[in-house]
Amino acid sequence: MPRTLPDAPFRPATLLVRGGQNRSSFDEMSEAVHLTSGFMYESAEQAEDTFLGTVQHFQYSRFGNPTIEALQNKLAALEGAEACRVTASGMAAVHGAMLAHLKTGDRVVASRALFGSCHWIVSTLLPRYGIETVFVDGTDLDQWREAFRKPAAMVLLETPSNPMLELVDLPAVAELAHAAGAVVVVDNVFATPLLQKPLTMGADVVVYSATKHFDGQGRVLGGAVLGSRKWVDEVLQPFIRNTGPSISPFNAWVILKGLETLHLRVPAMCANAAAVADFLAGRAEVSRTLYPFLASHPQQALARAQMSAGGTLVTFDVADQGDGAKAAAFRVLNALKLVDISNNLGDARSMVTHPATTTHMKVGPEERARLGINDGTVRLSVGLEDVQDVIEDLAQALDASRESLRPGLRDAGGGTAAGVSRAAGPAR
Ligand SMILES: *Cc1c(COP(=O)(O)O)cnc(C)c1O
Repeated sequence: MPRTLPDAPFRPATLLVRGGQNRSSFDEMSEAVHLTSGFMYESAEQAEDTFLGTVQHFQYSRFGNPTIEALQNKLAALEGAEACRVTASGMAAVHGAMLAHLKTGDRVVASRALFGSCHWIVSTLLPRYGIETVFVDGTDLDQWREAFRKPAAMVLLETPSNPMLELVDLPAVAELAHAAGAVVVVDNVFATPLLQKPLTMGADVVVYSATKHFDGQGRVLGGAVLGSRKWVDEVLQPFIRNTGPSISPFNAWVILKGLETLHLRVPAMCANAAAVADFLAGRAEVSRTLYPFLASHPQQALARAQMSAGGTLVTFDVADQGDGAKAAAFRVLNALKLVDISNNLGDARSMVTHPATTTHMKVGPEERARLGINDGTVRLSVGLEDVQDVIEDLAQALDASRESLRPGLRDAGGGTAAGVSRAAGPAR
């Protein structure tokens, strides 16, 4: 029997269960955890040949380890990418992909709607090194067009974005970016490789936080960068090898185990999220419900063209009930009995966060306003519980948020429902 998966065009579920494994001489069934910092050589000559590159042999786990390599090979096969490197966290992946490529004098164009730390890298870190950075509204092609009137070295964008679930038209932006000379980096955390394949729509590099859906059970941090063999070997690998954002082999193994069920977890979470979005859109305490496959989403057609399902996150605004939207949103969060308050996402457990006071506190009120995040905005990552239990928990929390209001204020607020369009329709 073969020790590795034969080279056939296997489907995603098969790649997730069996892809990437490289069995040792012990023929272990599950991937081995090679928890070792270094490797030994049989002779001085073998060590010399390894460093010359004429012999393939693991040297040091900062830049190569069999368990980490198994994860890289599984992710590359799933994404349809030539090569992959995994890192200690999603931010190590984003930071590595950018710093490996950029130099003083370069120009970076980014969509404004980025994960908080990605926003900090573009707005604060890169300018320190003499890199010019430009933010655009990712939904507005005219702003991208304007930004690419000057050459650019790199583009960073997220679609759907955190937390407002905005879409970027990938083929259109990639075409404009390439004409300006830029490498297009897509943070695909919210869509996962199962719902959206940026490399098939013009992206050059895809980055992930493996902490989210890949592990999916709240245990370890990890990240991944995927791209062409040439870019990964010549641009990314020297940076990773010499700066050391390396993942622990143990954490890589946990993520390998998590991936074996990604194709079962993500569609189930998407179906739950679509049902929750339909529920929230019909509630008077909720003034706006955002979900990419909801008919009321301004970019629903683009979402259905680029993604095979609407994703696992729903964002909604709790309406001001007369004492401020923040107070109303906090009452809802505090009344939840099942859903946890946590800033993680993509987990088996459903969790909510209030972006204005947590993940997006540091971007400041003006940038939050530009992003559309207000004091009533709540981001909900829908998990794998029975969706009826999640919906009942949300229902009782929305009810309680009104009842706990002082009597004089009770009837002052309550926005209008954003529409009761169905999100759970079939993919295009
Ligand atoms: C979580 C996240 C990251 C960062 O990943 P970490 O593993 O937490 O470092 C980057 N981008 C997006 C969209 C994320 O959700």
